[in-house]
Amino acid sequence: MSTYSTTKRFLAGAICPRCEAADAIVVYSRDERDFRECVDCGFIDEMHFAPQAQELDTRVSESAEDTSDEQVVKILSFPSGSSR
Ligand SMILES: [Zn+2]
Repeated sequence: MSTYSTTKRFLAGAICPRCEAADAIVVYSRDERDFRECVDCGFIDEMHFAPQAQELDTRVSESAEDTSDEQVVKILSFPSGSSR
């Protein structure tokens, strides 16, 4: 299960951890895994999301509208004994 589409998209506001270029980071999915890549210096990093986090919130970048629903789900289904 991947979060991003296979089409590379620029991540607004992201800063490259290697060359510190702003707005040069693209995110995309390949083979069910998510990657971020800097188009400036070629930095590539695989992104890891916790399995239970995907169930709670699959819309990482566009979930500003429905935060009220999300809070209820978190309280009800949060597994005891594990922090995230
Ligand atoms: Zn870079």
